[in-house]
This record gives sequence, C-alpha cells and structure tokens, in this order.
Amino acid sequence: MRAYNFSAGPSTLPLDVLEEAKRDLLDFSGTGMSVTEISHRNKAFSALVEEAEQLMRELLHIPNNYAVIFVQGGASTQFAAVPLNLMHNRKADYLVTGNFAKKAYEEGKIYGDAVAVASSADQTYTYIPDLSAVPFRDGTDYVHICSNNTIFGTRYVEFPDTKAPLVADMSSEILSREIDVNRFGVIYAGAQKNLAPAGVTIVIADRALIQNPLPACPTMLQWKVQDENKSLYNTPPCFPIYIATLVLRKLKANGGIKAMNEINEFKAGLLYDFIDNSSFYTNKVVKKYRSIMNVPFTTPNAELDDAFIKGAAKEGLVSLKGHRLVGGMRASIYNAMPVEGVKSLIDYMKKFERENA
Ligand SMILES: *Cc1c(COP(=O)(O)O)cnc(C)c1O
Repeated sequence: MRAYNFSAGPSTLPLDVLEEAKRDLLDFSGTGMSVTEISHRNKAFSALVEEAEQLMRELLHIPNNYAVIFVQGGASTQFAAVPLNLMHNRKADYLVTGNFAKKAYEEGKIYGDAVAVASSADQTYTYIPDLSAVPFRDGTDYVHICSNNTIFGTRYVEFPDTKAPLVADMSSEILSREIDVNRFGVIYAGAQKNLAPAGVTIVIADRALIQNPLPACPTMLQWKVQDENKSLYNTPPCFPIYIATLVLRKLKANGGIKAMNEINEFKAGLLYDFIDNSSFYTNKVVKKYRSIMNVPFTTPNAELDDAFIKGAAKEGLVSLKGHRLVGGMRASIYNAMPVEGVKSLIDYMKKFERENA
C-alpha cells in the first residue's frame, strides 16, 4: 500500500509521474538508455531541459527578460549565490520570518552589510511582519524574503513594495499559487518540496540584474553562466530535471497553477477548518498568514503528540512529526498530496481525538 506522505521535503510526488518514470526507466525517449545513463549533451536530454524551462515560463508567465535555470546545491547554496551575484554595494535587507529566512540572512552577513530589517522571532515566527512598517534602507542591492515558511507554516499574503530588487526563496510553495514574477528580481526554489526529487534548484532571475556577479563568485554559482549555457554548463542533475518535466507537464494538463491553487486552498481549508472547530488540536499561526503548504498543529500535550504520530504511521499517514524547532505535528500538503490524503488525515484526527480527549 502506498502511504500518504506528509513529509516537508523530500516529499510526495504524483503517483502517475512515478509510474511513468518507472515505465521509462530502461528506455528514455527511444534512446534505449535510462535518462540517468545518457549524456547530458544527448539531443533527447537537451530537449528535455528546454521543455522544462518552457513549461516553467508558461505556467508562471515568466517574461522573456528573465533567466530560468536549473542548478545544483539546493536552496541553501542560493543563500550564498544571492549575495555573490547581486551584492555590488555590499548592502542588503533581510526579512527574517523563519529558520530558512534566518539562514539566508546569516549567509548574507558573510558577504556584506546584511541587516534583518524585520523579524517575527518575537512570536516564534507565527506571523509575517507588517510590510508597510518595515524600515527598508536606501542603497541596498536587494531585499530578501522567504515567501512560505516551511517549518513554522506561514506565508506572505502580499509582497513588500521595495526600491531594491526583491529576492524570494519560494522553495516550499513554488507552483502552488499564482505570482506576478515581474514583482521580483530573483526567485529561487529547491525542487524537492513541490516539483521533483532533491538535487535540482530553480532560479528565475531578471537578466538585467545578473550580468556582473562579484569577482569572488564561483563560476558554478554565476547565474549568468548557467543562463548562457542553458543549464548545461556542467553535468546537470539529469534525473530530477526529468521528473520535474513530467510534473510540469501534468500540472499544465490539469489546468495550470490557477487550478492547482484552487485545490490547494480547498485542501488547506479542510484541515484548518477542522482544527479551528476542534478544542483538541491547535494551530498557532495568525490566520491571515497561514501557509496552504505546511500546516503545523499540536494536541494538548507532547505525549499525545507522540502517540498521534505513531498511530498515524500505522494507518499509512507518515512523516507527520513537526520540525524539532517547533515540536508537535506538521502536515505538508504540497501540490502532489491528493485531497483524499488530507481527508484521511482528518478522519484519523477525529478518531484520535475521540479516543484521547
Ligand atoms: C527546504 C527549504 C530550504 C532548504 O533547501 P535545501 O535544498 O535543503 O538546501 C530552503 N528554504 C526553504 C523555504 C525550504 O523550504
């Protein structure tokens, strides 16, 4: 039996995509070889990378003046790539709304005058700061945000208006809701939450901003180089790019991001409504800022949380343990989590409450 996997990442992938990958594993695109065996210079593979890029452009309405590249090293490597490509004046503002936002900020400090101009650490990251009150500084190279906070279960509802280019880590929500790419200078996302296996990271960057990386920027981290080489500067993560392409095709066939977002809102709504109507389960996030991807919740105490997680696993509802910084449970309900998975979780929550309240 296939489990409902609520892992925050690497996370569940669409079943039909996995089945297709399994069918094609020994013979990719009539080459008589697996996609993991062919040269990345093989035409069948470069066509795949091109298709992945085109699908990203189409689905997210990415204008032509933006680069769309597939790189390695995870979103965490981009924490360094951002300053190394953009920090010409050695000055950047960061909004610290969670653990990854903080890590990006700490990395930024290595390269220059990075300042946390707003933070929600005072309330354990359960909200997004009031964007109209953020004291953005003049003369910064960029403003960095994390648009969906994977561990704490918050997301930006609006994005800040900034003079400096806005840079967003969208790892845990890319392709889950419509965004206006023009509002951003750079968007990056590790693929293993909403798109593909771990190993590929997507960077969407306004080409005007990326022509002069800092002299210290390693070649591999230069977005310009990756863009000029169509993500084939060196051997790319072939298999994750292949799976990403299958996922993107499926997303397009199913109505694109608008349709996906409606399903995501519906799934998250089911879970939050249930939690809000229960006196047994709690979600501490300020309602307005609740993530539709990551839903942390608790029972009345830590012993019950443990029992909840163990009992859930027995029913095929797995990876529900919350991050160690938060405790309790976290249900990550990314694009690939079916509505039935969320309904099964709620059924189990009801049963657990009846037996333990
Ligand atoms: C998972 C995650 C990361 C870290 O990604 P890696 O690929 O492990 O480096 C960074 N930012 C956010 C928002 C994430 O959810």
